[in-house]
Amino acid sequence: MKTVYFFGDGLADGQANMKNLLGGKGANLAEMTNLGIPVPAGLTITTDVCTYYYDNSQSFPDQLEKQLKESVNKIEKAMSKDFGNPENPLLLSVRSGARMSMPGMMETVLNVGLTSKTIPGLIKKTNNERFVYDAYRRLIMMYSDVVMEKAAGIEPAEGHGIRHQLESILDDYKTEKGYSSDVDLLGEDWKTISDKFKNRILEVLGNEFPDDHYEQLWGGIKAVFQSWNGKRAISYRKIEGIPQEWGTADDKMISKQEAILRIAPDQIDELLHPRLDIEEENNEATKEEESKHLQSLEEFLPEVYNQLDEIRTKLEKHYNDMQDIEFTIEEDDKMISKQEAILRIAPDQIDELLHPRLDIEEEKQASVLTRGLPAGPGGAVGQVVFTADDAETWCKKGKNVVLVREETSPEDVHGMHVAEAILTAKGGMTSHAALVARGWGKCCIVGCSSINIDFEKKQMTIDNKKLEEGDWISMNGSTGCVYPGQINLESADPESNLSYKDLMSWTDDFRTLKIRTNADSPEDARQAIEFGAQGIGLCRTEHMFFEPDRIIEMRKMILAEDLSERRKAIMNLLPFQKEDFKGILEAMAGKPVTIRLLDPPLHEFITLNEKQIEELANELSVSSEKIKNRINSLHELNPMLGHRGCRLGVAYPEITEMQARAIFEASSELTQSGIDVFPEVMIPLVGTAREFENQDEIVRKVAKDIIEEKGVNFNYLVGTMIELPRACLTANEIAERAEFFSFGTNDLTQTTYGFSRDDIGGFLPEYLENKILDHDPFQSLDISGVGQLVSLAVKKGREVRKDLKIGICGEHGGDPSSIHFCYQNELDYVSCSPYRVPIARFSAAQAVLKK
Ligand code: PEP
Ligand code: MG
Repeated sequence: MKTVYFFGDGLADGQANMKNLLGGKGANLAEMTNLGIPVPAGLTITTDVCTYYYDNSQSFPDQLEKQLKESVNKIEKAMSKDFGNPENPLLLSVRSGARMSMPGMMETVLNVGLTSKTIPGLIKKTNNERFVYDAYRRLIMMYSDVVMEKAAGIEPAEGHGIRHQLESILDDYKTEKGYSSDVDLLGEDWKTISDKFKNRILEVLGNEFPDDHYEQLWGGIKAVFQSWNGKRAISYRKIEGIPQEWGTADDKMISKQEAILRIAPDQIDELLHPRLDIEEENNEATKEEESKHLQSLEEFLPEVYNQLDEIRTKLEKHYNDMQDIEFTIEEDDKMISKQEAILRIAPDQIDELLHPRLDIEEEKQASVLTRGLPAGPGGAVGQVVFTADDAETWCKKGKNVVLVREETSPEDVHGMHVAEAILTAKGGMTSHAALVARGWGKCCIVGCSSINIDFEKKQMTIDNKKLEEGDWISMNGSTGCVYPGQINLESADPESNLSYKDLMSWTDDFRTLKIRTNADSPEDARQAIEFGAQGIGLCRTEHMFFEPDRIIEMRKMILAEDLSERRKAIMNLLPFQKEDFKGILEAMAGKPVTIRLLDPPLHEFITLNEKQIEELANELSVSSEKIKNRINSLHELNPMLGHRGCRLGVAYPEITEMQARAIFEASSELTQSGIDVFPEVMIPLVGTAREFENQDEIVRKVAKDIIEEKGVNFNYLVGTMIELPRACLTANEIAERAEFFSFGTNDLTQTTYGFSRDDIGGFLPEYLENKILDHDPFQSLDISGVGQLVSLAVKKGREVRKDLKIGICGEHGGDPSSIHFCYQNELDYVSCSPYRVPIARFSAAQAVLKK
């Protein structure tokens, strides 16, 4: 008696007209195999075996075991894997079939062959422990339910079945660990779950879960035959009018007519490889309105699509009828390489992983309160407050707040830091709020011009709607939309996402651009290193002067009447600055750190109201009048084009001297204690070579003095920001002395376009709407305008100094298309806020691969 029919490798024992013996599925799989269609190899156990099974007290014919093993050997050959092999295990699925389709009514067991012997081998082969243990716990769950409980005739009370109990174990484990979905569980977790499952099975069913591959297979075979007489199958036949007496009156008839079994390699491979979202529609013509924007299979995997289409044509011709086709696309390394995977992912998808986001469905239902510029991606929910101090007070009480301001200044940073999100009425993508929020990975929307704040009443109006302090709002910093009330937040944890980790490590194999970060505290530096930063490209020093114990010295310095008084005040800041730089250089040990000398106009350090002026006057024992006069004298009509950048250092060389001293003293002390440091001193807002020379001379003299004084040597560079058109045009002159360039494209965009970086929010929406601009030039570099200046400066700079180190530290350093431009223009690195580092690494790899 032939009990087993093999199919695979283009040859099958059976054919389509053997439905009664092989069932509909078995017969047609044989037929398709004979047609040359790539059907995975497998075997079918005939209905005669089922007849025998029911005729002989549920036992199998003698010849079955031998014939089954022979066919399994053939499957092993066809699939180049061995059942039960510890190194290269073949896994099988055991499925039922019937002459008449009974979908889902009879049992299935998947992943058969996973045992303590084969698990380590499969982990090694897939390099994916999580995947293997997840597959294992699925096998345990299915097997205990189907084989050990149902097929064994155990009928637990409703809700007490083994599957239910195992599901509760999983739910309790997730609650205990704070996991919200199965995706959160790691390999270790699934391993623990598998052990817990096995213990519970022993406890409840009194038998061990089998750890032998053939024992699992026989259990599966038996369970499938048993399931013909299972509750579900009987009631299905009743509903569908399939003669019930087949199953009740005459055992022979049942088995003869219907029960067949098919065993085939498990489609486990489809889960082993990176999966990308594939649009369900197969080709362009079948796309519907809601799927229009997605890729069709035809576009996404053209070769696979063509193969599938050929199979369809062949089948329809052969059967002379329309076919309903189910198929599996089995990805293998030949089909999608690391390079292709990187190229197919949009950088924004990486960004989404790094930030919490609003619940998509809830957001769809919510009505938009107002819109602004999407300055800090991700979602946030909080109660509205209007001052930085209130933000701090409320947060101390355990509340979540959104800080709403007209615009922010360095004096607001304490409130910004504790707030969930920042919302401003004014500003653009490079305004203070935007830069600071992005640096912390915080949700931020700026330039929301419909917001009107009444600070006295602690309320704001948006169009006609009034919101009081304490009202809840929700924000989507990736789109710029603000909503009333609370929308649920989904948290982000990229590090627990295995595909993310793999993907990020692949990017480093391809990119040539280095990725640095813009950071001005040791905490931010450490965060950036975790994201993969290779140094600091911009350490802004201005925030360091706002701490309460320093701002007073800064103000004394600003109010000083003569050089000696000013010098004394500024030198009081030296110990503070030195500690700042030590912290940052140490956090970045072994990596380059570009420190920019003071940049903003002095009035930013002394914006005071009447009360604060009086307090300061008392503290310094000077008249309020004097302070007011000095504030007035610092007032500028165009502060962005005023007394800032290197112009400060030219007028007050003692500021440059103090900062240089702090940098080099910190460097020498760290070097002495065995820490490698690479400081790069950066002069801001240089427009002429002479400005640079003036500052360079001061910095180098300090360095020389300190190296002599301390007797310690370390490497350092002195270079400049290139952030004015004139600097680009005369880059060859500047590069005579400057050892590096860093493009400050925030100011370069401002000065090239003549758009104020802090006020563009007021008219940008109209510019975008009327297609005067394609995008915000402060977000994505204006290649045709500003880009020309960058290219020119690179060319001119390197003409004079071949090894000139060149980077970018404007916000464009974290923007994918700008990063492509930087790669094409042969920059050495891009520098961006810590939370943009992963996207920058990814975009830098894409740039190389696209080329
Ligand atoms: C720039 O101008 O691009 C820059 C990085 O400096 P800041 O934003 O501090 O002016
Ligand atoms: Mg600048």
